[in-house]
Amino acid sequence: MMKTLLPTSTAGSLPKPLWLAQPETLWSPWKLEGEELNHGKQDALRLSLQEQQHAGIVIVSDGEQTRQHFVTTFIENLNGVDFEKRETVRIRNRYDASVPTVVGPVSRQKSVFVEDAKFLRQQTTQPIKWALPGPMTMIDTLYDDHYKSREKLAWEFAKILNEEAKELEAAGVDIIQFDEPAFNVFFEEVNAWGIACLERAIEGLKCETVVHICYGYGIKANTDWKKTLGSEWRQYEEVFPKLQQSNIDIISLECHNSHVPMELLELIRGKKVMVGAIDVANHRIETPEEVANTLRKALQYVDADKLYPCTNCGMAPLPREVATGKLNALAAGAEIVRKELLVA
Ligand SMILES: [Zn+2]
Repeated sequence: MMKTLLPTSTAGSLPKPLWLAQPETLWSPWKLEGEELNHGKQDALRLSLQEQQHAGIVIVSDGEQTRQHFVTTFIENLNGVDFEKRETVRIRNRYDASVPTVVGPVSRQKSVFVEDAKFLRQQTTQPIKWALPGPMTMIDTLYDDHYKSREKLAWEFAKILNEEAKELEAAGVDIIQFDEPAFNVFFEEVNAWGIACLERAIEGLKCETVVHICYGYGIKANTDWKKTLGSEWRQYEEVFPKLQQSNIDIISLECHNSHVPMELLELIRGKKVMVGAIDVANHRIETPEEVANTLRKALQYVDADKLYPCTNCGMAPLPREVATGKLNALAAGAEIVRKELLVA
């Protein structure tokens, strides 16, 4: 589908302008409300798109300017979840958070992101990617007082996500991504039903689909967790064999500066891979040559026509000039390797 070799994209979020939300703050509340907020989000989306275009990013997104949180903003639009009734749960076995409670059957009240996606579609003829939370990551962000079964709740969310995804596809989205950091933690459940739920979420879609599996934003809870993982991060090994067999088209991974052994990519040979070549947990801007090096290593295990250079995760918490520098480095690094491939 992609005409460009090594089509670049970002894993998701980009910094928000300071008039919309507090900079360098993850999940910052909006600074505007009502109609002003709607305009503010649209202007921020235009700005974020322009920064991606200036850098030369091939597959563009809204930079997640339209959401406050990558999971909660979606759940806020569902029936069956009480945001007033909160319980403290452990997120991905890593940190405690006060979360809303599932109090009844879950369903979608209306489209959540479809109007935003239509707006992005109007702004560009480039391929666009839209991110949704994955079912397993959604259940991990809630206290379930109704289904009392992680699997049942995930299955219900998969059906809801499928409705939303079909509308996004109809709105002209080329690639729909499901963020599943939980796939890096709950291996038994991923293999037992997590991947099956994801396949339910993409049922009947004709556009391309991605699952994004990372080690999280560069926040303290995540960097502390990473310190406990040892010198080789082999988490992907647990879920790759089953993902390789799944209907998901693209797998988005953290690779640069991580301790993930690159040879694990051999386990998903045949899939398209969004290779994270930008570290989001670090303010240092990569050189294009560093990006190129990570891509060259990945090329040992990923066929060139299936390699999509990307960031490790979202860049929302970074200062804007750092995120812009990293976007430029990603595009320039991909261009170096593109030229090498065309000569060879
Ligand atoms: Zn991520």
